Amino acid sequence: MKAAVFDGKEITIKTISDPKIKDSQVLVHIKAVGICGTDLAIVNGDLPTVTPIILGHEFVGEVIKIGKNVDQSWLNKRVTSEINSNIDFDCYYCKQGLFTQCISRKAIGIDINGTFAEYIALESYLLHKIPDSIPDDDATFIEPLAAAYQTFEMMPLDQNDKIMAIFGLGKLGLLITQVALLRGLILITVDGSNKKLNLAKKFGAHHIINRLNCKDIPNKIKDLTNGLGADIIVDTTGNPDALREIIASCRTRGKIHIKSTHGIETPINLTDVVVRELTIYSSRCGSFEKAIEGIESGEVKVGELISNKFQLSDIKKAFKSYKLSRDHIKTIIQM
Ligand SMILES: [Zn+2]
Repeated sequence: MKAAVFDGKEITIKTISDPKIKDSQVLVHIKAVGICGTDLAIVNGDLPTVTPIILGHEFVGEVIKIGKNVDQSWLNKRVTSEINSNIDFDCYYCKQGLFTQCISRKAIGIDINGTFAEYIALESYLLHKIPDSIPDDDATFIEPLAAAYQTFEMMPLDQNDKIMAIFGLGKLGLLITQVALLRGLILITVDGSNKKLNLAKKFGAHHIINRLNCKDIPNKIKDLTNGLGADIIVDTTGNPDALREIIASCRTRGKIHIKSTHGIETPINLTDVVVRELTIYSSRCGSFEKAIEGIESGEVKVGELISNKFQLSDIKKAFKSYKLSRDHIKTIIQM
């Protein structure tokens, strides 16, 4: 099969042998894959991983072969899968149902081979069926949308949580924008792209701040919040400078939620976090069922987040396209 192999320096299209399935696995023919910030961080050298490796995990494909222990009904189904594979179902976390934090877990496309390839062998317990009403391209948003919903699963809101700010309007920021608005929060969005800010506004964001036209973002946010700062701030920027602004823009006893897996070290002064008793949350993978429902019902719009599409053979160009424009949101690789 053709696969995009990352050797630690660059991605090259190679012809390698097709994956063989075990009795518990299915063979999936990949149809479309989104490029994630995590893929970009690995290729940029910010997030270390084993090499050589096939990256990619935001995918949709069709089950074309099943192992003998797999339920027949999976055959020919359009699917995506959980990102955390190699689950032992026996560890401290698995016993609590927290499979995404299993101590044996290996993340698809990060720790083990992923989906920038024609085929992948997957354990059947990882699969989720995709309804016919969700097109392939939209289905590549299921995994990141699950992560967006998880923001609020890991950070319970209380009666004082009314105003939320989001720093960074990439794919994840624009998904969290929509999920936050469903919870009735007043939303401030911060980014350097008018195109992304206008999209957030179209989704319902109450205030937009273009950082290119704003010298003092914490001050601007205080102006919008009676001088207090935002009750909750979500960071999807992966940028240490933004994190300093976020701490300064959060009200005393407020909540900061970190979503970026950018890999790079973040030197910040935590004194203000301690003195003003800020709480720092984080979250990663969430419920795929909820994300599938969210796209199917139309409560979250994903089509407008697609900036461009490339064939697998042009994957190098696809990765570069993220660096070409501030307005870029999401690239999809089609097989
Ligand atoms: Zn486990």
